Amino acid sequence: YTGKTSAQLLTEKIRQIQVKEYLSMPVLVQEDATVYDAICTMFLEDVGTLFVVNKHSKLAGVLSRKDLLRASMGNQDLNSIPVSIIMTRMPNITVCSKEDLLVEVAEKLIDKQIDALPVIKNSTDEDAFEVIGRITKTNITKALVDFSGDAII
Ligand code: ADP
Repeated sequence: YTGKTSAQLLTEKIRQIQVKEYLSMPVLVQEDATVYDAICTMFLEDVGTLFVVNKHSKLAGVLSRKDLLRASMGNQDLNSIPVSIIMTRMPNITVCSKEDLLVEVAEKLIDKQIDALPVIKNSTDEDAFEVIGRITKTNITKALVDFSGDAII
């Protein structure tokens, strides 16, 4: 008997959840895709964040809903603006790996005031992140619901 309360055991379990247990598929667009293409992709794929990849299929940037809204506000031709002009670009992208803790991801989302992180394959080369997943506030909410069922008094 460990002498730990059920609350302590639950806390420990929550702190052990890894990104790989809750990640979603990433939705990717090419760097030379237009803002119009990205809006269509975001709508059709039903996601709030797109990841932009370069011609080597490595992470180049992130597009949020508001990035696309902002680009749509002027009288610009959305078919002639490449997403690379408006995206948040590397190296200013907050990323995580499959083995990271979900709690750490939640802290990053709050800290940076963003909705999603790309999950990248472990790599030592910062310029060549391969995107293998997506983790969002929705995934974290799902974890919260799963673990609320484990609460015992
Ligand atoms: P929205 O802009 O629709 O409110 P976010 O809060 O996710 O959505 O994005 C806020 C800003 O942060 C956007 O300009 C977006 O490009 C950028 N951003 C989103 N996710 C990341 C990330 N993982 N790393 C760095 N910047 C990001």
